[in-house]
Amino acid sequence: MAAVERTLSIIKPDAVSKGATGAILSRFEDAGLSILALKKIRLSEEQARGFYAVHKERPFYSDLVEFMSSGAVVVSVLEGPDAVSRHRDLLGPTNSNEAPKGTIRGDFGTDIERNAGHGSDAPETARIEIAYFFNATEILAPVAALPA
Ligand code: ATP
Ligand code: MG
Repeated sequence: MAAVERTLSIIKPDAVSKGATGAILSRFEDAGLSILALKKIRLSEEQARGFYAVHKERPFYSDLVEFMSSGAVVVSVLEGPDAVSRHRDLLGPTNSNEAPKGTIRGDFGTDIERNAGHGSDAPETARIEIAYFFNATEILAPVAALPA
């Protein structure tokens, strides 16, 4: 049985600015991932630097920070069976140039940097990344339908 997991999703500035937010969120729900929390924000450079601190020694770090703080992003908490890998499968490979059509990065990204979406890479990283953007009161379990 697949474990129910949570993961952090970021719809990156390239995809938000081209009006793809709704289409991308639909793909999450269509794939059985519930949206437990959702907000549209603009990252400061400091927030982007902190979020991608694991890449701070990489040559692309400063460009990545500039890109991630260049416009609005939509961050969400997704929950469902195998949410971490299911979400990353929907994103496709990191490089949008190599991502097949039908994946989020293949359909809405441009290149290896402007690649439309971020997804946590493990349940432990997801916990840290979720706490980076949301406090516990902002994360809502799916509510059962009200009785008729
Ligand atoms: P993400 O962490 O955003 O979900 P990922 O796990 O597929 O993507 P990482 O290796 O963690 O890939 O890289 C983080 C982000 O840094 C990528 O999504 C991309 O935007 C950018 N990036 C990665 N490699 C490069 C590169 N060689 N040149 C420019 N940008 C890059
Ligand atoms: Mg990553």
